[in-house]
Amino acid sequence: MSVKRITVGELGTNCYIYCDDATGRCAIIDPGDFDDYLQSVIEKYGTDKFDYILLTHCHFDHVAGVSSVKELTGAKIGIFLTDAPGLRDMFVNLSAPFTGRGEVYPKPDVEFADREKFKVGETEFTVMHTPGHTVGSCCFITDGIIFSGDTLFHMSAGRTDFPGGSMTELRNSLRRLAELEGNYKVYPGHEDTTSLSYERLYNMYM
Ligand SMILES: [Zn+2]
Repeated sequence: MSVKRITVGELGTNCYIYCDDATGRCAIIDPGDFDDYLQSVIEKYGTDKFDYILLTHCHFDHVAGVSSVKELTGAKIGIFLTDAPGLRDMFVNLSAPFTGRGEVYPKPDVEFADREKFKVGETEFTVMHTPGHTVGSCCFITDGIIFSGDTLFHMSAGRTDFPGGSMTELRNSLRRLAELEGNYKVYPGHEDTTSLSYERLYNMYM
């Protein structure tokens, strides 16, 4: 397996490409923007190799490239079920207040439930509902890896002052992550990669 990070958009969102090396099947996580560079990276993996476009939550800086990536790859768009409505609401997805141009995004193909499992190639992923930053934020978890969106950052955690945010829920979500057994590499929605063991020790929000 391999993970490639591409930083996209004005807010420096981490977009990731996960590749199951055994099969060459891929997923793209949080295409927060789309440009020639991202297109060239996707083309390098193969536009027909993508099973999923996975969205950790509905905010525009994580999803604004979704139409273009869908058009290019035909991959299924997946988001946690309670964040799906936010894709269609320019205030909940923050595109109106942040960019001045309200945008809505395509309907997802899959609306995940908590603990739902799906496969990218031969690799099984589990969805963990981690509300707090938004009502339907989730983490995508597979062998030793967590894509944590804006729930968990290196030494920090997501804001809870946007529509649907809740500090109480965020703390519960971080506790559930901390209670996972063993160590995981953590790929957050912004800033640096970290590990669950490190954050358990040093992240004050955990
Ligand atoms: Zn966000």
